Amino acid sequence: MNNVFVYCEMEGSHVADVSLELLTKGRKLANELGCQLEAICAGSDLTDVEKQVLPYGVDRVHVFDAPGLFPYTSLPHSSILVNLFKQEKPQICLMGATVIGRDLGPRVSSALTSGLTADCTQLEIGSHEDKKAGITYENLLYQIRPAFGGNIVATIINPEHRPQMATVREGVMKKEILDENYQGEVIRHDVAKFVPETDYVVKVIDRHVEKAKHNLKAAPIVIAGGYGMGSKEGFDMLFELAKELHAEVGASRAAVDAGFCDHDRQIGQTGVTVHPKLYIACGISGQIQHIAGMQDAGIIISVNNDENAPINAIADYVINGTVEEVIPKMIKYYKKNSK
Ligand SMILES: Cc1cc2nc3c(=O)[nH]c(=O)nc-3n(C[C@H](O)[C@H](O)[C@H](O)COP(=O)(O)OP(=O)(O)OC[C@H]3O[C@@H](n4cnc5c(N)ncnc54)[C@H](O)[C@@H]3O)c2cc1C
Repeated sequence: MNNVFVYCEMEGSHVADVSLELLTKGRKLANELGCQLEAICAGSDLTDVEKQVLPYGVDRVHVFDAPGLFPYTSLPHSSILVNLFKQEKPQICLMGATVIGRDLGPRVSSALTSGLTADCTQLEIGSHEDKKAGITYENLLYQIRPAFGGNIVATIINPEHRPQMATVREGVMKKEILDENYQGEVIRHDVAKFVPETDYVVKVIDRHVEKAKHNLKAAPIVIAGGYGMGSKEGFDMLFELAKELHAEVGASRAAVDAGFCDHDRQIGQTGVTVHPKLYIACGISGQIQHIAGMQDAGIIISVNNDENAPINAIADYVINGTVEEVIPKMIKYYKKNSK
């Protein structure tokens, strides 16, 4: 009762990375609240699925294993969560801000008349004083995310209704194993008790999953280009430098909108979040929506012809110059040094 729950997204019998990231965060929240962390795995052929989640500090794993539960369809998974939550009364439920999470989250929160904040960038525990009503709420989930076009960072709370629900995009939270041998309880549920036969009305006949073309999210070095790169050809220079440094290329939204780079490489609030050891920002001004996706980088180097560009304020090193002048020199010297 009153625990923190994470809905684990399954790809076949594999738990998705975003869910493991949320288990890591969920463990920290549960520690602060002094409660347990519980995981829900629903799919087919889930023998030993607990081995994937227990090391993240999960106290109880709810396994729902039935042929109709993979690939994901809305109705059976919604019924599982709604009926399980009616029994278990969680205080918090987290899920990935993925295609599945965006479908499932609102269905569950609407059925349970709870709240849901999508695309949170931070989750914290705190209190809230309602001065008008003279009530202080303790141990609420602060669901923090950019709002109003990213111009403010809003903290959203859900004082009365439970569970407090939030979705988080992949890569925003860090995935960290707590203890390889962490011991937790595994509960294998009778799926028929949670899902009526009529929920299996949608059958997936064919499914195509396209493999990611790059590994931007996990790359240790990211070279990102902005509108200051000037053209698609400008980005070719970044790809050449990336080859030398074994890095991935990212982009700002302005660069993507201008057609200099593919959309799937956009970094920021409406793109991917990256945590590289080194981030080289080339011709990027550093607006808040871009910084939201890269501020946790270990070292930031900014190449910009404007010494007052906002990104310079968070950069560890600033190279003041044009990309046309600086990037070819970087390529030349890295080539020379790697021989
Ligand atoms: C709801 C919303 C969501 C958004 N989501 C994102 C997001 O996910 N990611 C994102 O990036 N943006 C996002 N944006 C857009 C964001 O506000 C900025 O418009 C965008 O990040 C600007 O990109 P930029 O820095 O490349 O371009 P600019 O702001 O135009 O900056 C270009 C920079 O290049 C420098 N420069 C110009 N020429 C050269 C040169 N020859 N050599 C060196 N430097 C040069 C300039 O000095 C300047 O600093 C979002 C906006 C909104 C409203």
